[in-house]
Amino acid sequence: MKNVRVRYAPSPTGHLHIGNARTAMYVYLFAKKYQGEMVLRIENTDTARNVEGGEDSQIKYLNWLGVEWNEGPDRGGKYGPYRQLDRLDIYEKYATEMIEKGFAYKCYCTSDALTIEKERQQAEGVVATSYNGRCRNLTQSEKAQFAAEGRSFTIRMRVPEGKTYAWNDLVKKEIRFESADVGDWVLVKNNGIPTYNFACVIDDHLMEISHVLRGEEHISNTPKQLMVYEALDFNAPTFGHMSIIVNENRKKLSKRDESVLQFIEQYADLGYLPEALFNFIALLGFSPEGEEEIFSKEQFCEIFDASRLSSAPAMFDVQKLEWINNRYVKAASLEKIVKLSRPHLEKNYDLSEKSAEWVEKLVALFHNQMSYGAEIVKLAELFFVEDFILNREEKEFLAQEGVKTMLEALVVNLMALVVFTGEEIKEVIKLTGKQTSTKGKLLFMPTRIATTGMMHGPELPLAIELLGKAKTIQRIKLTIENL
Ligand code: GLU
Repeated sequence: MKNVRVRYAPSPTGHLHIGNARTAMYVYLFAKKYQGEMVLRIENTDTARNVEGGEDSQIKYLNWLGVEWNEGPDRGGKYGPYRQLDRLDIYEKYATEMIEKGFAYKCYCTSDALTIEKERQQAEGVVATSYNGRCRNLTQSEKAQFAAEGRSFTIRMRVPEGKTYAWNDLVKKEIRFESADVGDWVLVKNNGIPTYNFACVIDDHLMEISHVLRGEEHISNTPKQLMVYEALDFNAPTFGHMSIIVNENRKKLSKRDESVLQFIEQYADLGYLPEALFNFIALLGFSPEGEEEIFSKEQFCEIFDASRLSSAPAMFDVQKLEWINNRYVKAASLEKIVKLSRPHLEKNYDLSEKSAEWVEKLVALFHNQMSYGAEIVKLAELFFVEDFILNREEKEFLAQEGVKTMLEALVVNLMALVVFTGEEIKEVIKLTGKQTSTKGKLLFMPTRIATTGMMHGPELPLAIELLGKAKTIQRIKLTIENL
């Protein structure tokens, strides 16, 4: 493999989206796999779409995920600058060269004129409207006149006629476009700022990028970019276009889709483990050999193989997300999960009376079933609510014969307990069973319902310990009164 240099080139138009994060991760894994270098380049030429803090946010959450690059705006490198708006003089030089060599021309059409032409084409039923080539062959005197008038201009590519642009895509295999389907497109806007398609080629060339890995939505940009490579006599890199990510209804993930959390920041805020999310995202469109699905970042660096990137859409399976995350949470130390969960508990409940030990025991109770930190809020609700309302099934269970007597004995026994720990509570439940000749489900289920308000839940004696003596007794008494 030639010297591998790859880049992730986000536009700072918002937060780090799942799809972009996946691109960045594959670029990173590709670099690692082939001992190459990774570049982070900020593509900010579409100034109207840039958002403040967009770049910082991208960097912050790429770091959080564990994606590491060798060169970029935050760390420099010998191919900089790494923000496109800091490279305008470079693009200008190449745009001038393109004009001089006849591959591009100045277009003086006003935006009104362009709109009118577009509407005319639409009225004729043209779907993919394109520039009509009005300024393609201006005479010297026309050019001189427009220049003298101080008219603003864009620089357009003179799209060659009758050419085929084809490449062997790393993911999608053979792709071809006919030049006839591409209108003369804008290389440089009338404010002097290049378009993405132009700047991207100049940068990929000067930054010696060997492989361009990006989302499938850029496939139609590639023939445009190939024209520039050809005009400037640059070698084109190898392209790989990753398939889209779809939701469970097979619809492309869109930012408005509420069935899936779209931004990495949201996962970080909810207390997901970055290494688990990395694992999940890495499998969105990449399938390793064999059945195993749990891999560390280091393992992915070893096994990553661009030829195993799927050309079919990758489905974002929420259940798998939770399953993978649960595997990581289970394997993590309790201390780590407490740290992940505590801020969420604090945000939702009053912990001022609770010791650190209590919180630790609480998290321990749910540790194995959790997938992310914020999940603790719902799971632990029963310890914080004042009251609970029983549903019909629960009420019916309690209405069975013998339940009331058993609960009455239980309260008495629990009140007598001096040390209110899980072990002691377990013994008390057993004793109550013996005293009232109840056992099995008839003993444990009413105890669970009366203390936690639910028929399923965490390990009961421990849950009762955490509930505390006063609250437990109060709850059982209240349940008895209502029987
Ligand atoms: N700035 C482009 C984007 O965010 C990058 C496309 C490319 O990788 O060439 O989609």
